Amino acid sequence: MIDLHTHSTASDGTDAPDQVMEAAAAAGLSTVALTDHDTTSGWPAATAAALRLGVALVRGAEISALSSDTATPGRGVSVHLLSYLHDPDHPALLAELTRTRADRETRAQRMVELLAEDFPITWEDVLAQTEPGTTIGRPHLADALVASGRVRDRDEAFATVLRPGTRYYVGHYAPAAVAAVRAVRAAGGVPVFAHPGADARGRIVPDSTIEELAQAGLAGLEVDHRDHTPEMRRHLRGLAEALGLLVTGSSDYHGTGKTNRIGENTTAPDVLEAIEAQGALEVVR
Ligand SMILES: [Zn+2]
Ligand SMILES: [Zn+2]
Repeated sequence: MIDLHTHSTASDGTDAPDQVMEAAAAAGLSTVALTDHDTTSGWPAATAAALRLGVALVRGAEISALSSDTATPGRGVSVHLLSYLHDPDHPALLAELTRTRADRETRAQRMVELLAEDFPITWEDVLAQTEPGTTIGRPHLADALVASGRVRDRDEAFATVLRPGTRYYVGHYAPAAVAAVRAVRAAGGVPVFAHPGADARGRIVPDSTIEELAQAGLAGLEVDHRDHTPEMRRHLRGLAEALGLLVTGSSDYHGTGKTNRIGENTTAPDVLEAIEAQGALEVVR
């Protein structure tokens, strides 16, 4: 069983990287990818745990991008790009990820200022919800809102106050999706479009954008994901076949931060082989 999309406390998951590996082992997975948002800081701890537990580790990240070429904050459709087995020190990709993380944190501070006008929440409250060194994002603002007692859980926080369009929402920098695909390839990574058809959580890109990304070097589509209906999965499977793209399935596990169970969707072994053959790094075994 292979699950190619999980998050740890290095981004917005609630398990430390070694605990993600332990959860993978406990669920009977053979292989798991750690794909924190815009960071690879969880890789060393996950690697040590993978070797100790005998679970194979695909080192990865989930890169924030925007579908519009201007990549203006607040415009374009949000695109999440899974990057597998890239060189973590490649200068261009590293610069993009660093810029995205820095701007994400500035934006989180700005959102807290706006939220503080209506909710009992401060930047210190948000920091209290995170591990030191974590890039602060909207999930952490959600946790602080839950702790304040004004919303029930992360889902309610996102549905009511943290989504685009509310008076508290502030956009953040992200690279254009085509540029992000090229940057991942330049760093020796294998780019897979995460949950491309998750239309319940926001706008999605048209098929023509996926075609454009395929021409830019996209390797695959994450088809089996809990945010996709059976119809959407069928559609994306057909699109992947037409464009010669790999098909992956994964859980998008966040620990107790979301209801996703590790290993709830999986990827076929031959697809993992194809990903490893294209990547600059080897799977840790
Ligand atoms: Zn995502
Ligand atoms: Zn994710």
